[in-house]
Amino acid sequence: MPSVFLMPKIRRLMRIFEPYLHKMLRKEIQIEVEKGEMLPLMEEFYTIQGEGYHTGTAAYFIRVGGCDVGCHWCDVKESWNADLHPPTATGLIAENAAKYANTIVVTGGEPLSWNMEPLTRKLKEKGMRVHIETSGAYPLSGSWDWICLSPKKTKLPVQDVYDHAHELKMIIHNRHDFIFAEEQAQKVNKNAILFLQPEWSKREQMTPLIVDYVMQNPKWRVSLQTHKYLNIP
Ligand code: SF4
Repeated sequence: MPSVFLMPKIRRLMRIFEPYLHKMLRKEIQIEVEKGEMLPLMEEFYTIQGEGYHTGTAAYFIRVGGCDVGCHWCDVKESWNADLHPPTATGLIAENAAKYANTIVVTGGEPLSWNMEPLTRKLKEKGMRVHIETSGAYPLSGSWDWICLSPKKTKLPVQDVYDHAHELKMIIHNRHDFIFAEEQAQKVNKNAILFLQPEWSKREQMTPLIVDYVMQNPKWRVSLQTHKYLNIP
């Protein structure tokens, strides 16, 4: 144990080195985030999938921070700045998720801003089915059992995601979005299941239009944000 005379010296040295240690640690964390071994975790919760093909089924949601797609009606704008969300080890995320469910939905933010390989590998090692909700703005990484592609006009999907999507979920905020939805349906692979979903703040105006549209164009299905009607996350 250092003598009482040495203690002030040690404290002084620690004060000098502290910023360097913090800097080294920040650099280490940044490297882990770049590799996808750590991810900026915004929130995680067990709930019911409210939208799209798997509506009504229990799933554990992992929301990863960081998105530069910039949808003006985005309902998770707090997710955009990745720096606000703590870098978290993917092993820890997977361990936690395994306590709750067999189906995991990775959402954001835009999860494909990051390397998803380590997280999906660790989830799959635990025997879980892994789904993603993505705008498709970045190339696919990771291994997925279900890809829900929801393209946005501000940053269109890359071809890889069109080719591998299992469902195409188009958000309808105004009448022009029906035209955009048809354009996107031309680009996605032919097996993808097609959904039209009213943007929440416009649901009263858009839902009746979607219902009419789907009856006239039955290749599409209606998707509603049922979790919001149920008042669950
Ligand atoms: S892609 Fe998703 S998270 Fe990003 S701005 Fe659009 S709605 Fe929000």
